[in-house]
Amino acid sequence: MTVAFGGHRALDGVGLTAEPGRVTGLIGPNGAGKSTLFDVVSGLRRPSAGRVLLDGRDVTRLGPARRARCGLARTFQRLELFGRLSVRDNLRVAAELGPERRRADRVVAELLDRLGLAPIADAHADTLPTGVARLVEVGRALAARPTLLLLDEPAAGQDGEETERFAALLRSLAGDGVAVVLVEHDMGLVMSVCDQVHVLNLGKIISSGPPEVVRGDETVLAAYLGD
Ligand code: ADP
Ligand code: MG
Repeated sequence: MTVAFGGHRALDGVGLTAEPGRVTGLIGPNGAGKSTLFDVVSGLRRPSAGRVLLDGRDVTRLGPARRARCGLARTFQRLELFGRLSVRDNLRVAAELGPERRRADRVVAELLDRLGLAPIADAHADTLPTGVARLVEVGRALAARPTLLLLDEPAAGQDGEETERFAALLRSLAGDGVAVVLVEHDMGLVMSVCDQVHVLNLGKIISSGPPEVVRGDETVLAAYLGD
């Protein structure tokens, strides 16, 4: 697909597939087009050319809410929590909009448990350290029971221990059959959890493959060093 802002192509002929049960990494320097790609897939931005397929269905013309009902959920690079609501209530708002809204309390309890957030369920979101707030944001996305989950720099602000737990969560989501796409700067995390990694630079995919292959690719190194 292609996305142009004026004459500038933020994405230029990018093709990407996310498989159920797999964690797909999307990396690249700042400004490469990663968040723009998420905007196009989640329906916040129309591509200038190309299509978005969900389970083989063309959703290119559907808005974000319809795509969410098709099983797509995402998080944002900039946090989007309700600062004055508790962790529990942030999850509850999402659960009450989700497919299991009639058992929202159960969904919230499960998520608090799975994400290790139960001990701080009553804390206001705006008092949380960034790393923890990002986990709540992931929980909000999971309340929608997504089959495709797009995560935009979810580990930014997490400490080493939090990231390790987060890695286990991503593997367990993949184990449940979710197609996870991970945009992340923490290379340790990317290399340890991703089945497949795509490298975006200046709107184009410059390398794709298993993490250990991409890591050794000289074009990737050159892109990060700014040539
Ligand atoms: P990344 O998430 O990889 O850091 P982005 O997708 O945010 O990159 O940005 C990709 C490119 O598109 C950048 O050159 C950025 O300046 C440009 N861009 C992003 N959003 C807009 C916009 N709304 N209008 C114009 N240019 C934009
Ligand atoms: Mg971004």
